[in-house]
Amino acid sequence: MALTVHALPMGEFIFAPGEEYAGQTGVVVAYAIRHAGGVFLFDTGFGFGNRELDDYYQVRARDVVETLKAAGIDAAEVTAIANCHLHPDHSGQNGRFPGVPIYVQPTEWAIAHGPEEYTVLDWVDFPGARWEQRAGDHEIEPGIRIFATPGHSPGHQSLVVDAPDGPLLLVGQAVYSRGEWAGIAGAREGYSVARDQPAYEASMARLKALDPKRVLFGHDRRGWPD
Ligand SMILES: [Zn+2]
Ligand SMILES: [Zn+2]
Repeated sequence: MALTVHALPMGEFIFAPGEEYAGQTGVVVAYAIRHAGGVFLFDTGFGFGNRELDDYYQVRARDVVETLKAAGIDAAEVTAIANCHLHPDHSGQNGRFPGVPIYVQPTEWAIAHGPEEYTVLDWVDFPGARWEQRAGDHEIEPGIRIFATPGHSPGHQSLVVDAPDGPLLLVGQAVYSRGEWAGIAGAREGYSVARDQPAYEASMARLKALDPKRVLFGHDRRGWPD
């Protein structure tokens, strides 16, 4: 069975005052991959009900179960999840999937549970959460591989999907936009605000070395190439 990838538009937000794109609209995109044994979900968007975050980013989140349904997927078909990282715009609705394994890099887990206010911890440590800590690159299902891409965050991870015509990459926030991937001047980029810029560059180089046929992003509705 061929793997099929569905983009899930998870909503929008407004970049906050003081941020690089202050006042502009940002988008959040998650992805569902149908495989022989079910559906693998990459990211779950912003969560609901965090007043501070909603006010700061003027969040307009979409319900993940409804968004899956609109893509023809029943939430009960989801057999495993990974978040590109644990910031609240990528892991916010994990709690809709109690008992479903969620793959995370140990370094990401550690920073989320560290002293800094890294994420909305209630959305990470929800009732019935089943976290699977795995370091580095590893296969989830035949043809679906987690690929470690630190930089934006310490335990950022991407997905490599074996498509019939070559590798398809879901890069989350390892690369911010189609334009950043393509090296277009003035495109929205994530390098300048990466926690670890050398790691960000190294991860992008590692992704490019895979020679993908298509690349999809967590904060850009357009993929590369068009
Ligand atoms: Zn982030
Ligand atoms: Zn993000």
